[in-house]
Amino acid sequence: MSNALPSEGMDMVSRQLLRQLKDILGSDGLLSDPADLVGYAGDAAGGLPEVLPDVVVLPTQTEQISRILTLASAHRVPVYPRGAGTNLSGGVVPLEGGIVLCTVRMDRIRRLDPVDMYAVVEPGVVIEDLNRRAGEHGLLYPPDPGSVATATMGGSVAEGSGGLRGLKYGVTRDYVLGLEVVLADGRVVRVGGRTIKNVTGYDLVRLFVGSEGTLGVITEITVRLIPAPEASATFLATFDDLGRAGRAVADIVGAGVLPATLEIMDDYTLACVEEHAALGLPTDAAALLLIEVDGPRETVEIEAATVEEVCARAGARSVQRARDRAERDRLWAARRAALPALARRRPVTILEDITVPRSKVAEMLTFIREIAARYGLEIGTFGHAGDGNLHPTILVDEIDDRVEAAVRALVGRALALGGTLSGEHGIGMAKAPFLVEELGREGVALTSTIKRALDPLNILNPGKFPGRWRG
Ligand SMILES: Cc1cc2nc3c(=O)[nH]c(=O)nc-3n(C[C@H](O)[C@H](O)[C@H](O)COP(=O)(O)OP(=O)(O)OC[C@H]3O[C@@H](n4cnc5c(N)ncnc54)[C@H](O)[C@@H]3O)c2cc1C
Repeated sequence: MSNALPSEGMDMVSRQLLRQLKDILGSDGLLSDPADLVGYAGDAAGGLPEVLPDVVVLPTQTEQISRILTLASAHRVPVYPRGAGTNLSGGVVPLEGGIVLCTVRMDRIRRLDPVDMYAVVEPGVVIEDLNRRAGEHGLLYPPDPGSVATATMGGSVAEGSGGLRGLKYGVTRDYVLGLEVVLADGRVVRVGGRTIKNVTGYDLVRLFVGSEGTLGVITEITVRLIPAPEASATFLATFDDLGRAGRAVADIVGAGVLPATLEIMDDYTLACVEEHAALGLPTDAAALLLIEVDGPRETVEIEAATVEEVCARAGARSVQRARDRAERDRLWAARRAALPALARRRPVTILEDITVPRSKVAEMLTFIREIAARYGLEIGTFGHAGDGNLHPTILVDEIDDRVEAAVRALVGRALALGGTLSGEHGIGMAKAPFLVEELGREGVALTSTIKRALDPLNILNPGKFPGRWRG
């Protein structure tokens, strides 16, 4: 049974509009039966309301999307772009009802050029599928959010997603070369191109990357690919003290090694993962670091030795190197299980996404502990420690004042330490109330000016940033 609320503006989609949409999409490209709409009321974010859309459209071509947006503008009906719905900030919740525009049927890799090293994909391509194809040519598309097996390219570009390889390889925005976008009034624009160098005009590609479906619908994406690394070495470093694990993070990079992955898991998360997946992790440890270095074989061996040495010097109880593919897979499975394992603990999961400079990771980890104790909350922390990107995850039966105070304190401290309130999960609904604290009034005003210029009728993903959603 779904708890999704009917939208306040229920029946925004008139019979006439529904008929017009059917004409564009055919009957198999549109869902309007309430039972079919339930799956489009929310996303992977916890603790946020879900709202039923009036209709879901599943286009297969840019031209259909252009016609849908032209109609939506004429009828003043909100449109909520959606990929796989795995985002963690309430980004696809159709707060005002209307149309959910889901791009999963646009799932073709249109071109993969191994010489110029780029790929052109439709927005519904699943990230892992692109990497499977790139791998056939010895190439790699590095951005890899924990959801790679389901998340779409369109959703990850619109979210500006990060992932586990961010420290060495950067994030989604570092790989997008060009986009085709349908604007709110139905116009189709192309921005960027397919070359690495391109400084013609404003950087409109970066404007749309991370715009969370508020400025246009992305219908084609050109991304840069890189040669896949020749070799890698994966380590599990076990610590009896959380602060020491945090310091080891800064020490590894300080020693001149830039690991592809440098992830942290605290004892609470570790216990949840072990309970969930029984991978044989040391549950008596205070924290684990999962470290992977990659590159040419010789360099990997030099960096591997440095990682072992630095971890030992930082006070690691043990540093274990994966001996083969199976062991490496087991360690990765542990990391990827962190969020699902935590989410099983309590009915409500509040996943934070604060990011601080790497040198402040240890301080932030200590502060998270203080907050858990101060408000009597269960908080498990994991994340991309090498990027300073931590996911303290609050687990409760229901949201109360303690949770709100804790979130406010965590965000406040991250900003005070020179960080950001969202490293990779975006603003959506979850972080909208805090936007002004990071951007300031002038920054929010500038954001609103851009939004009004591209979407004057406010039909694209309304109610999210730079709007004023308040829970
Ligand atoms: C278990 C798990 C692990 C995760 N790990 C990570 C991680 O390590 N790093 C990370 O960054 N994220 C992570 N995420 C979050 C999430 O997976 C990513 O943000 C993902 O890239 C979103 O893709 P999606 O297809 O699900 O997009 P959706 O959730 O459907 O949409 C995301 C946003 O993009 C907009 N959008 C979608 N498609 C389009 C389009 N074609 N045009 C314009 N706007 C569009 C939506 O309106 C929404 O605002 C994780 C999520 C889960 C559930």
